[in-house]
Amino acid sequence: MKISNYLACPECDLLLQRVFPAVNEKAHCPRCHYLLHRPRIQSITRTFALSLAGLFLLLPANLLPIVSIKILENTHDGTLLSGSVTLFNEGMWAVAVVVFLASIFFPMLSIILSLLISGHLYFHRPNRYLSVWLRTLQHIDEWAMLEVYLLGIIVACVKLASMAELKFGLGLTAFVLLLWVALMLASNFDSVLFWQRIEQLNVHEKK
Ligand SMILES: [Zn+2]
Repeated sequence: MKISNYLACPECDLLLQRVFPAVNEKAHCPRCHYLLHRPRIQSITRTFALSLAGLFLLLPANLLPIVSIKILENTHDGTLLSGSVTLFNEGMWAVAVVVFLASIFFPMLSIILSLLISGHLYFHRPNRYLSVWLRTLQHIDEWAMLEVYLLGIIVACVKLASMAELKFGLGLTAFVLLLWVALMLASNFDSVLFWQRIEQLNVHEKK
């Protein structure tokens, strides 16, 4: 184990010497047992592959119909984007903005940033914006709420099922896959490793 610098426990502020546990090992705070670091297997490679997959799913998930609703011979296709646009046209612009940010903008930004960061680290390309991108990514993750949107779709479908004919579209498949990619990205992301690699790349570039 290599000790290079110090860190403060985020829970109890105890000053600790930084340790780098191996994969399948965990580093806990000795005072409050807060989980400080749990390395993930091939975090950079997996983040790169998953965010590439996410990038390809973004367009179909946002633009293809998630559900088709048929009421009295009128068929209406609902997409993620049309949901926000409809809310906006109905005068609920504040809700429309929140729905747009949480279901489209932040998930999209999160995947693009993950791809940029992991791509640079995977190919060992230094970039002076890497730390800004990673800090932004860690902040916006709390705002990307695809799973809440999925819950909304399920509730709406259950309520509408007795009144209208519902048909699920390809957009829903892409959306569920995108949600799975987002969850896998979160579970494979090793922020300690990412920060460490960015630091190494920047140090290397300055030499
Ligand atoms: Zn602690």
